[in-house]
Amino acid sequence: MPDRSALARLPKVDAVLDAEPLCAARWRRPLARRVVQRALADLRSAVLDGKSVDIPDAAGLAATAAATLESWVQPRPLRVINATGVILHTNLGRAPLSRASIDAMADAARYCDLEVVLGSGKRGSRFAWLRPFLCAVMGAQDVHVVNNNAAALLLACTVLGTPGGVVLSRGQMVEIGDSFRVATMAGAGGVRVVAVGSTNRTHLRDYAQALDGEGPDAEGVAASALLWCHQSNFTQNGYVKEVGLAELSKLAKARGIPLIADLGSGSLGDGLPAIEPTIGEYLEQGVDVVLASGDKLLGGPQAGIIAGTAEYVERCRRFPMARALRPDKTTLAALHATFAAHAREGVPDLPLHEMVARDEAGLRARAEAIRAELGWDASAVVTLQAAIGGGSLPGDTMDSVGLWVPCAKPATTARVLRLGSPPIVGRIEDERLLLDLRTVERDDDPRLIEALAALSDA
Ligand SMILES: *Cc1c(COP(=O)(O)O)cnc(C)c1O
Repeated sequence: MPDRSALARLPKVDAVLDAEPLCAARWRRPLARRVVQRALADLRSAVLDGKSVDIPDAAGLAATAAATLESWVQPRPLRVINATGVILHTNLGRAPLSRASIDAMADAARYCDLEVVLGSGKRGSRFAWLRPFLCAVMGAQDVHVVNNNAAALLLACTVLGTPGGVVLSRGQMVEIGDSFRVATMAGAGGVRVVAVGSTNRTHLRDYAQALDGEGPDAEGVAASALLWCHQSNFTQNGYVKEVGLAELSKLAKARGIPLIADLGSGSLGDGLPAIEPTIGEYLEQGVDVVLASGDKLLGGPQAGIIAGTAEYVERCRRFPMARALRPDKTTLAALHATFAAHAREGVPDLPLHEMVARDEAGLRARAEAIRAELGWDASAVVTLQAAIGGGSLPGDTMDSVGLWVPCAKPATTARVLRLGSPPIVGRIEDERLLLDLRTVERDDDPRLIEALAALSDA
């Protein structure tokens, strides 16, 4: 039975707003009013649901509302220490940016020469200063940059797949994550996606038929482009066949239509495992337009890269939808700094590449130092398997070293670490709470020690 007398005891909105905790903090009154009204509504429905509720007085509710407002205005997203061992962790923001990229973003965030040529004082293009450099690094004729790779796929397929649609093998109808499907995004602009082949086997003749408007899904309309999608997050074994890019490219050239290839990861090589194809390799195999993410193996900000033949890239750039997909100035600044890192000899000075290159001995030394500092016994230092992640390199892990946190309830302790400042995100495996050091910035070791020491005090 709802306790109706409790409802009568709920404080009045204005009394709460005038109570010390809220009025002293000087929040805008209409905003504070909405927060208080929401809190009162929650209390009311809890009472009506028959729950036993402590009815706060005006000052008590004002304190709660003030705390809510205070938490809302704290900077977000929170920086976290990634101890998961997954370098490109999509839920943790994929590639961590280099210092140079972060500085470049901060500079660009103020006034910058985004669309002005300083020499002449005239209006310029926001990509003009970036294009020749990016093209030279990738070995592409032309490049256009959009918000993310999903946008690159949408734009390239909408522009180049008109009017007949794009042809995609059933073996490459990939789901990337969070329900993002390549075939869905390719067709999201209203372009037809013609599925050819079977899950495990697709032949050159399947593609050729679709370009002739023949075959079960072509419905008599000749397709306008070929779409290839890198099987970035899975592998197929057994009785399988995919047509190679070089062969597909010949078919596309013979028909005078573009071959679009969604590479996803955007590797430029440069010290990363060679099993992941690079943008340059795709172009060399005759792909007309390569699509890639900026924040995967490239090691930069969220962005989508459309690189390839001048004529096709130019058509994408000129299409009205391009304006709706354009990246902001801070993204361009970070992308530029990322390519600058790729331009120099050796392993690029980017966190992703540095983390991949870390050797086991160095990681072990760090783990031992942390363990000794905490007074944990030797078994706390463990060999682990880290991954690049981000939908790249399926099943490919690298040896790593980390800490097995001694605790009775791994899930509870993991939560305590996640709610710390800064939050530390580890992983639980076989009932063990593990912190992989490969993905932890070296500068964060003292913070790790501090948080772990506080645990054992508890
Ligand atoms: C990751 C990925 C995408 C999506 O890229 P976003 O930058 O996250 O939009 C598309 N295609 C492939 C093959 C991918 O691996």
